[in-house]
Amino acid sequence: MAFISKTFYSSEDLISHLKTHQPSFYFSSKTSTVIPYDKIESLLPWSKGDYFLCDLSKLPPSMELKANGNLVLKGGVSWEEAKKFLRAKGRNLKTSPTEQLALITAGIATSCTGERCFGFGNMRTQVVSLKYLNYNGEEKELKRDQNFSTSSHHLDSYQQDFNFYKNFKNAPYPRFEKAIDLMIGTEGQMGIVTEVEIETVENYDLTYVFMLLPRWEQNYEAHMEIFKAVQNKRDAIMSCELLDANCMNYLKPDERLGNNNDVIFLEVKSDRFEEIYGNVLCHLQHVGADQVFEIAENKFHHVRAGVPRAIFEENSRMGVVKVGTDCQVSADKFTDLLNFYRKASQIGVRYCLFGHFGDAHLHYNYMPSKEETSKCLDMFQELYNQVYEWHGSPFAEHGIGLIKQKYIKKFHGPHQLNLFADLKKEHDPFGQFFPQGFMGAAETP
Ligand SMILES: Cc1cc2nc3c(=O)[nH]c(=O)nc-3n(C[C@H](O)[C@H](O)[C@H](O)COP(=O)(O)OP(=O)(O)OC[C@H]3O[C@@H](n4cnc5c(N)ncnc54)[C@H](O)[C@@H]3O)c2cc1C
Repeated sequence: MAFISKTFYSSEDLISHLKTHQPSFYFSSKTSTVIPYDKIESLLPWSKGDYFLCDLSKLPPSMELKANGNLVLKGGVSWEEAKKFLRAKGRNLKTSPTEQLALITAGIATSCTGERCFGFGNMRTQVVSLKYLNYNGEEKELKRDQNFSTSSHHLDSYQQDFNFYKNFKNAPYPRFEKAIDLMIGTEGQMGIVTEVEIETVENYDLTYVFMLLPRWEQNYEAHMEIFKAVQNKRDAIMSCELLDANCMNYLKPDERLGNNNDVIFLEVKSDRFEEIYGNVLCHLQHVGADQVFEIAENKFHHVRAGVPRAIFEENSRMGVVKVGTDCQVSADKFTDLLNFYRKASQIGVRYCLFGHFGDAHLHYNYMPSKEETSKCLDMFQELYNQVYEWHGSPFAEHGIGLIKQKYIKKFHGPHQLNLFADLKKEHDPFGQFFPQGFMGAAETP
């Protein structure tokens, strides 16, 4: 067996490779936290001959803003590049993942969400249509206004099970409701996304504020008061993010906010800010007016993205695979989740908590040494058992990849596995698309 690396500089190269039906893992910017790229060759089990690691990030990029405000993009376009392109034309993205260097076509594959999900919902709802290359290298188009279609008779039972999860950003398995869903959250196991049409919004002025709070481990009353207060203000507040006091240690001293405080950030439409300040922030019992501060947009993004990036780097340095969570729970289970994280914080391993607070969707990260890793993983197994009981979503944002497969098994019953197997036979008959993915390998002819 040999791993062979390939980079595609044109659609023609990619199509030629697809026609060979060789087993391959296709990647874009390599920012996925569930694919340990630095160890990928040892973690992709494969014993049947050559296996290809295929780089899509050099496919020629292009962007076009349509008269109706939709953005059509092809090839290697990152969130950062699309935002810049749109802002120059008075528009903005509705999705803003913390890692802006990721590619938008890959965001389809991972069913990307992000900070602005609070105000605009997840990316899936913003995709109007997309194009992909199938196992024969043929281009296919899928549209949002067409229903999902498959010859499998397992779709109905799959859809019924999905009802438990329909209010989450991403469920433990893909939606498979609209035609576009074939490519959304399927992590490159059904084909290669090459072109996307997404909705955008007017680039209105935004005001960013943060509030200093006590540490959540000691008292989360103020946090929960904010959580409840912002819920029905999603038309004015685009995002509601948390960095806890532990996160500040991952920033340079002059970038840290507060003094041993947790921090909640709000991104607010500037023309609604006075109303939000007067009607929401001034009425908080647990947050004084002197604890609310304005922050520049670029500083907010720098600080917010700085923490997960620093954790990512520290884990690589320590030689450990990321030990972090991505759970979303319903609002009525949010304090149960915080209580669980309190318990998790008491096992004597460094940790921090951050993420999409307004959506009850947080990332709890341990920073273990190699020796400490197994007790952290035991704690997470207990968490996933709880999330299952709470009917929460274990991986609402970063997907399953390779490193979360062990934990997702409990969430995939016969209805899900049968449909995955049928879709793999239909769309990946040669087993060429990431055969080690959560949908399982297709039977090779
Ligand atoms: C600091 C940090 C912050 C993050 N914040 C967020 C966040 O806020 N929201 C969020 O959703 N994610 C977040 N992520 C996770 C990651 O950025 C996303 O999953 C992103 O969509 C991955 O994009 P990529 O270009 O790096 O894809 P890659 O890592 O290269 O690939 C990811 C997966 O997509 C598949 N894939 C890639 N390109 C294609 C394609 N063209 N067609 C089909 N399949 C493809 C791959 O096979 C793989 O399974 C964060 C990651 C980091 C490191």
